[in-house]
Amino acid sequence: MRHLSVACFIVLAYLTGLRPGEVMGLESGCCPEPPSPSRHLIYGRVFKGVHDQDGNHYSAGQVREVPWVAIPPVVAAIRVLERLTPQGLLFDSAVHAIPRGRISTGQVVGFEAMHNRIEGFIEWASDLALGLDRPHEVIPDDPFGALGVARFRRSLAWHIARRPGGLVALAIQYGHMRTSMSAGYAARGRGGIHELLDIEAAGATASTLATLHDDLAAGTGISGPAARRAIHAAAQAPTFVGSIRTHRQARDILANPALTVYDNPHSLLMCVYNRDRALCHRRDVTDAPSLDRCQPSCANIARTDRHADELLQRAQTLEKQAASEAVPGPLADRLTRRAGHLRSLADRHNHDRINSQEPTA
Ligand code: SF4
Repeated sequence: MRHLSVACFIVLAYLTGLRPGEVMGLESGCCPEPPSPSRHLIYGRVFKGVHDQDGNHYSAGQVREVPWVAIPPVVAAIRVLERLTPQGLLFDSAVHAIPRGRISTGQVVGFEAMHNRIEGFIEWASDLALGLDRPHEVIPDDPFGALGVARFRRSLAWHIARRPGGLVALAIQYGHMRTSMSAGYAARGRGGIHELLDIEAAGATASTLATLHDDLAAGTGISGPAARRAIHAAAQAPTFVGSIRTHRQARDILANPALTVYDNPHSLLMCVYNRDRALCHRRDVTDAPSLDRCQPSCANIARTDRHADELLQRAQTLEKQAASEAVPGPLADRLTRRAGHLRSLADRHNHDRINSQEPTA
């Protein structure tokens, strides 16, 4: 039961963007079934920045005006917790203590206790993985020390900002969450997760530009309709790398159209974003590209030698799969065609590539 409630805490803390105290403050019934098939919403309390009329921090918090959006795994976690604690606080310390079933005191599990329980959960999950002969599922040691309760929110922002084109399932999940957050949680109030998202997005842009700057200085070639704009953006990288500390600094970078360069490892290219030329979101008005819907004929594309190498590696992998006897003919044909397309993109890069020493137009 303890591990189950910790697992639910992890799902809630990681997949909602709620602060740890806000998760702990959730009560049974906080996420009612919506009247029609629409998004579930979480109604809970916020604690940060809540003051009484004398300006003192109000520790009981207040019900948040705008509910949080809950994606399906979060709803499942809440339903499990509601079965453990049908009334009152979902993380009531008496209910979640061992032995079970004590009378509720209205107190929640403390951060320190949850911190220890998360460590216990990690140990238990890793032992289970070894016991089931699945060593690849052992949770590795964290180089930054114990996980604690505060890092989930920041991790979520990091992933949303940097992995939009990663694994497809994650891309959909994170893309959906970004949309949900922009429409609700992120759209209001100071200190919302949108500020974290902006800082992480600016950090991702800065590290993409720094890598590009170093690659170009080392003689890496670049191609594509947006190659010159990418070179221009990379030249500015040294002035702001490592300087993004505040939300305002992040906003300044994200609002600078000359710096909006996003790596897109899923499509093996770089997006040098210009909203007027973007093909991924013709209808939406947005300040960021939809990297998971990238279109190969977009005028914002640039590729470096590194992308060309990765295109060839991916083509080789597909060709190996196509040559396998286990792959049926039509699928093998499709894989071969895809590999040929990737090779032609790499060839085009090698033909068109320029380097940063060449005069810019
Ligand atoms: S379609 Fe264009 S703007 Fe959209 S992600 Fe791809 S390169 Fe960027």
